[in-house]
Amino acid sequence: MLVDSHCHLDFDSFDEDRSETIQRAFDAGVGTLVTICTHYSKFQTIAAIAELDPRIYCSVGIHPHQVEEEDAINLDDLLQAAKHPKVIGIGETGLDYFYDQSPREDQQTSFRTHIAAARETLLPLIVHTRDADDDMAAILKEEMQIGAFPCVLHCFSSSRALAETAIELGFYLSLSGILTFKNAEELREIIRDMPVDRLLVETDSPFLAPIPNRGKRNEPSFVVHTAEKAASIRGLDSTSFAKITTGNFFRLFSKAEPSSGAN
Ligand SMILES: [Zn+2]
Ligand SMILES: [Zn+2]
Repeated sequence: MLVDSHCHLDFDSFDEDRSETIQRAFDAGVGTLVTICTHYSKFQTIAAIAELDPRIYCSVGIHPHQVEEEDAINLDDLLQAAKHPKVIGIGETGLDYFYDQSPREDQQTSFRTHIAAARETLLPLIVHTRDADDDMAAILKEEMQIGAFPCVLHCFSSSRALAETAIELGFYLSLSGILTFKNAEELREIIRDMPVDRLLVETDSPFLAPIPNRGKRNEPSFVVHTAEKAASIRGLDSTSFAKITTGNFFRLFSKAEPSSGAN
């Protein structure tokens, strides 16, 4: 059984076939899905999707892109939402200096508020980072000094230095369809060298469909292709790799229950 540790089932592109999409994932051997919150204002909708099935969980947070359009997040709201039984992580949050869709200073403030919530709840922080390696590493190290929190860098596609920093801090790296792309040789080399007990897999659907579905709408069942690629990079068979990454997932996201209610 695989886990799609990061998807966005609330997005419009699933409006026509959301339940079929979820069923296809289960049929493909994806035993657990985490639908990730990007807009705190949509948290109730996201939690309602997680409530559809015991194998679906969710997170709470504001994506760095949405920091400007959403009201500033406050710690109490995050802590309150985190009590929901389906919420197993805090985020996605982080820094995106590639799109710069929100002012960098505001992204950092929001990021640190999410970190405080992760530290207090001990739910893993789900980090989005792009073109922000130096600030990302600096903030993560500084905040870990203040007090430890569990964390995953989702859709990992950053530098070797940031990967090493994350591993040193005890964090996890989640692999997306990018790993299957032709031009991702450097990323594959980094992933080859990271401890296998710190790797997760995800789709980030509806974005970033892995080869052979590149360019199509991505969906949780496609995590199978990313996992196959990652297994081959690591010289493991698909079954062993699935077992390892699923074990990693439940170790990190300890509020989730393995295949609870699976049939
Ligand atoms: Zn992201
Ligand atoms: Zn995402």
